[in-house]
Amino acid sequence: MNSFYIYENWRATDKCVIHFADCRYCNFGKGTERGTKGEENGRWHGKFNSYKETLEFSISLGRKKVAPCKVCNPNII
Ligand SMILES: [Zn+2]
Repeated sequence: MNSFYIYENWRATDKCVIHFADCRYCNFGKGTERGTKGEENGRWHGKFNSYKETLEFSISLGRKKVAPCKVCNPNII
């Protein structure tokens, strides 16, 4: 079963993006490791075992927007 991660971003845009763990932008919560400066721009949360659980946690973080990643589409199972 696939697992999920959230990237919480408060610098570029005030939002959370949900990824599959094996998405190339997520890389099991490590990100691309390019153009990122530690936790200056945001941070990873995870892992989570269901999309529903991930979505609920995303909402609890209180960012303006919660969106599924457009590359890995974790909301489509
Ligand atoms: Zn993704």
